[in-house]
This record gives sequence, C-alpha cells and structure tokens, in this order.
Amino acid sequence: MTTVNAYASPSATEDLVPTTIERRDVGPHDVLIEIKYAGICHSDIHTVRGDWGPQSYPLVPGHEIAGIVTEIGSAVTKHAVGDRVGVGCMVNSCGECANCQKGDEQYCLKGMTGTYGAVDRDGTVTQGGYSTHVVVTEDFVVTIPEGIELDVAAPLLCAGITTYSPLRRWGAGPGKKVAVVGLGGLGHMAVKLASAMGADVTVLSQSLKKQEDGLRLGANSYYATSDPGTFEQLAGSFDLIINTVSASIDISSYLQLLSLDGALVNVGAPAEPLPVNAFALIGGRRSFAGSMIGGIPETQEMLNFCAEHGLGAEIEVIPADKINEAYERVLASDVRYRFVIDTATL
Ligand code: NAP
Ligand code: ZN
Repeated sequence: MTTVNAYASPSATEDLVPTTIERRDVGPHDVLIEIKYAGICHSDIHTVRGDWGPQSYPLVPGHEIAGIVTEIGSAVTKHAVGDRVGVGCMVNSCGECANCQKGDEQYCLKGMTGTYGAVDRDGTVTQGGYSTHVVVTEDFVVTIPEGIELDVAAPLLCAGITTYSPLRRWGAGPGKKVAVVGLGGLGHMAVKLASAMGADVTVLSQSLKKQEDGLRLGANSYYATSDPGTFEQLAGSFDLIINTVSASIDISSYLQLLSLDGALVNVGAPAEPLPVNAFALIGGRRSFAGSMIGGIPETQEMLNFCAEHGLGAEIEVIPADKINEAYERVLASDVRYRFVIDTATL
C-alpha cells in the first residue's frame, strides 16, 4: 500500500477537503499512474452531494484522469513506464459477459466498477482522480496519443467519450443536422466532435451568453432556449439531439425539434425524472434514447480521433484549493468549459 495525497468529500453537505488515501500495491496486471490532471465532471458533483443516492464517505471523486505510467506489473503488456495514459469512469468489469465481450464494458451485466465510490474486487471502495496516483488494471487504461496535451486530454476520458459514443452510434456526419442541448463540459465536446465528424451543428443553450464561443467551437447555429420562438422556429429540424443538461428539462418540447425518425439521446443524468409526452414521440416516429460513457475500445478510438483532428477540451486549470469554488461555478453554469485540477497542487 502507498499513501497518496487527495481531495475528498467528507459528506453530502460539506466542502471537499485535503486528505490522504491508500493505493494498493501494483499487482501483475496493474499499472501505477502518476496523475497529472483530473477533470471536474458534473457527475462528481451529483455523486458527492448524494443526488444519485447514498454514498460511502470520505469519497475522492474524479473520473477524467490523465497522467504518466510510473510502474507496471510483471504481466502488463499494453503499457510501459513513461507512457501517457488516461483513465475514465470505470476501472474494471467482469470481462466475460456478452457486453464486456463486445467492448461495451460500461454495460457489464455484472456491473462495471466505477472509478470512485464503487466496491472493488478486493472489497475496498474505489477512490478517484482528485489524487496524485492511482493503480488500475491495464485493460482499463487507455493511451493518450502524442499531440494531445495531458491537461486538455483529461476531460476527454468522460466528457469526450460520453458525447463521441452517441454521435457515432446515431450517425452524426455530413448531411446530418445535430443539436446539442447545454454548452457545458459535455456539450462543448459534443459540438467539437460533431463538427469534426462533418455534421451541421446547432447549440441550444439557455441564453446567448456563450454564442461566440459556440460558433468558434464549430457550431453552425446557436439559439437560446429561454426564447419560446426558438421552439417554433426549429420545429422538425434535427436528425439527432444530444441532451447534456444536468437538470430535468421539458423533453417533450425538445422532441418536437426532431425531424421524422429523429432521435433525442439523453446523456444528462439529473436526479429527477424526465417525463415524456407520448404524442411528441409518435407524431414523428421519433426515438428517445440514452447513452452512458463508452467502452474501452471506443474510448481509445475517440482519443485517436481527437488527435487526428487536433481536438482537446477547453479548460480552466485550477489548483486543488479551488475545487469547491469550481463546484459552485459548475452548478451556476459558469464553466468554460471544463475545470481541470493540476494534481501537483494536491
Ligand atoms: P455541466 O458542465 O454543468 O454542463 C451542463 C450544462 O447544462 C450547463 O452548462 C448548462 O448549459 C445546461 N444547464 C444546466 N442547468 C440547466 C437548467 N436548469 N436548464 C437548462 N439547461 C441547464 O455538466 P457536464 O459535466 O457537462 O454534465 C452534464 C450532465 O451529464 C450531468 O448530469 C452529468 O452527470 C451527466 N453525465 C452523464 C454521462 C453519461 O455517461 N451519460 C457522463 C458524464 C456526465 P447552458 O448554459 O449552455 O444552458
Ligand atoms: Zn463524468
């Protein structure tokens, strides 16, 4: 066991505080990573505040991890000391079920092991990336290609893959009209990725405050959802809508923006239900779907795609003592577009 510095949430109602945690010894299939940067995902906030149910505290969040391999186990073949690597939202799965076999480990039929707040194989609770080091089995460690700096790469491990996966599955590309609801961490990556895939991209944000940024990130159009005229003007327009909003919104009005056979894919994960009016679906043979992160092979594919297209996240690097402030700013939709912790400050 090694003791490492970290930042942890002591309870659902208190600020995160500096602490130390234990990392397991490097086993034959493990990789020890010196974490350089860890992104702050809205899911970290949902989790530590108990939005998704009770947690075990103290809890170290963080599932957007970028760092360098500093030690490998005797049987490791995929990574070497010095490699630039990333870890996302999961650190293990059964590896044997139909979904794992397909490379969809996030849908493991026995339940994947989350990067933090999950019970690991050894019975301990996993602790995440707001720390200086982590030990992960090599199969859940991906390679960050040369050409993507580690700080802008970190958010790709969750925000990147969570938007890349549904964009690919629902065929974002030339000739497709894609709308992205919410221009936060996930939303801004959805815009960059869909644009790089060749789709015509529209941002649907609460206001026009970030319009200039949205267009710079690759959107072709930008509308404010606070303006009711937006919903009239854009009715029946989109082949695909990716909803990244962290709160419950009126899904039925967004479904009306889909063209015939269009799909609205929800990646936002609010605690509250998202009620749907059946007529908004049946009226245009529309689909309402969901998607959770992406599998390990697809995560590597996404990183390679980002390297090829020169994509990374738009980030604000912060020292550890600004984590609580950053949480408040994320909750206020005041993030451009991902906070990333410099773990050297832990
Ligand atoms: P974020 O950076 O806070 O972005 C969410 C954006 O949603 C905000 O920037 C804001 O954009 C919009 N928004 C927030 N509150 C709103 C409200 N009340 N009404 C309308 N729009 C609102 O969060 P994130 O890190 O991108 O995560 C977004 C959601 O995805 C969270 O629920 C997170 O847990 C979930 N998530 C899911 C997966 C998955 O696998 N499915 C993975 C990661 C995260 P505008 O200012 O542009 O309106
Ligand atoms: Zn996340």
